Amino acid sequence: MAQNKFIRVWTNFNIEALKKNILLIDDLYGTCGNCKQLGLNYTKDKKCPKCGCEFKYLATNSKNPVDIIQILNRIKSEKLALILIDREDYNRSLAHDIAKDLFKTS
Ligand SMILES: [Zn+2]
Repeated sequence: MAQNKFIRVWTNFNIEALKKNILLIDDLYGTCGNCKQLGLNYTKDKKCPKCGCEFKYLATNSKNPVDIIQILNRIKSEKLALILIDREDYNRSLAHDIAKDLFKTS
């Protein structure tokens, strides 16, 4: 019998668009990536109640694989339309944008 496993995938994102569709979570509660609204619940809030952004992606501060698997299992068992992305990748991409802005001459 075939087993289902979680495999990480590399995808190319437009960071500005991603920021408008991401929910950043600590434990169960999350923050809107766009307007920083606090106290959102990824299993219930499909949109940000403050800015109206639709959540398609999740990123967690936790580096604990147990927490990450728990989130992935929850997404799967509750059939949530969310994709978990790597928080460090996301942070790095934002930092890169800032660095780029620093060197912008206009
Ligand atoms: Zn928001």
